[in-house]
Amino acid sequence: MDLTVIDNLCAADFMRVEHLRELQLARLKNIVKHAYDNVALFRSRMDERGVRPEHIKELKDIALLPFFKKIDLRDTYPFGLFAVPQSEIVRLHASSGTTGKPIVVAYTKQDLDVWSEVMARALAGAGLNKNDIVQVAYGYGLFTGGLGAHRGVEAIGATVVPASVGNTQRQVMLMRDFGVNGICCTPSYFLHLIEAANAAGIDMRELPIRVGIFGAEPWSQGMRERLEEGAGIKAFDIYGLSEIIGPGVAVECTEHAGMHVYEDHFYPEIIDPDTGEVLPDGEFGELVLTTLSKYAMPMIRYRTRDLTRIITEPCKCGRTIRRIDRISARSDDMFIIRGVNVFPSQIESALLTVEGVSANYMIILSTENGMDSIALEVEINEASFSDQVRELEALQKRISAAVESVIGLRIKVKLVAPKSIARSEGKAKRVIDNRVR
Ligand code: ADP
Ligand code: ZN
Repeated sequence: MDLTVIDNLCAADFMRVEHLRELQLARLKNIVKHAYDNVALFRSRMDERGVRPEHIKELKDIALLPFFKKIDLRDTYPFGLFAVPQSEIVRLHASSGTTGKPIVVAYTKQDLDVWSEVMARALAGAGLNKNDIVQVAYGYGLFTGGLGAHRGVEAIGATVVPASVGNTQRQVMLMRDFGVNGICCTPSYFLHLIEAANAAGIDMRELPIRVGIFGAEPWSQGMRERLEEGAGIKAFDIYGLSEIIGPGVAVECTEHAGMHVYEDHFYPEIIDPDTGEVLPDGEFGELVLTTLSKYAMPMIRYRTRDLTRIITEPCKCGRTIRRIDRISARSDDMFIIRGVNVFPSQIESALLTVEGVSANYMIILSTENGMDSIALEVEINEASFSDQVRELEALQKRISAAVESVIGLRIKVKLVAPKSIARSEGKAKRVIDNRVR
């Protein structure tokens, strides 16, 4: 595939807004009818509200449609939301099950083409092309990350290295020996790869790698700086979820100022998570997504439980598809400590403003004297390890103050030796909850 083909592929990113809205409306009408005709749960939810597919006349009529949630996928496990005969389905995946029993998702051949198209647009937008070698270090298998990124790399004509997760030393060796230019994995796993490279005496900044496409978990600006500096790369945030398609729902362009949603395929809304009311662009709330072109398992107004906002200002890159802000939190991750709502991502952002700490941390919740207690274990880096006790105490205080200023709670900070916190290969586990309930 030559570069003009990539340009054509990305043309939808720059479509005239009126055309984009027309396309979205036509696709919305079509998919609502498809879901209504073929999915019993969808039809009954619409019938309960007295809404019929022909009531969708404008895009804003989407607000007439019922919401769907993860529980609906669990209740219809495994195949209850499929909208095409099994003979049309060419692939199944299941979510990683971060928050409970896995859910199953399905794709027709055409759905897979849409998926590789959006992933190709994501990779091309990050500056990768057919001359590049791209390592995919997301898990392959039931998780969508590996194969999702894989097909995208092939679609731009680049060379894919399907490394999957694990075997960290080998990953580093492949990056070096093959001269890998780009990598797709979770940000926490890439941090681990940088450490593993350093331990093997390899400075990633000297390797040809220049682009990292990181997603599947929340990560902060501080983490971005560490990854970019540690490996001499540009890091791109990519968002996706199995229920909608997998990775490739939204991704940053080279402006790194929010993630462009491929809204010709995935229609975004932001709602107030408590009332379900649709919020205007610019306001923070829960992201709701509708798949406009997915046939095997259409998702209508799916409540992602991810919190963000739609950015109203046009992007400097010229793309007309709207952007969402970094996913500030996933509501499933929230915990309540002494009446205060806390997201692990807030703690990460605060922690990484402090000099001299590594980005490896663990939040530990426990019960002490009948009260909730929160502690933060943070690895210090090799350089600080030999510091005097006095200096370490000062570091501890700086961390504690930084976190308190963000979450409004005093937390216990424990500095631990380098490499003592378990590394993850996929989505990082940031919280251990030992509270007695
Ligand atoms: P699971 O719900 O089991 O984790 P998925 O593997 O489908 O299932 O993960 C999707 C979720 O991962 C999203 O809903 C979101 O919470 C999180 N996620 C994915 N990409 C990002 C990202 N770039 N930033 C923050 N969170 C992300
Ligand atoms: Zn842009």
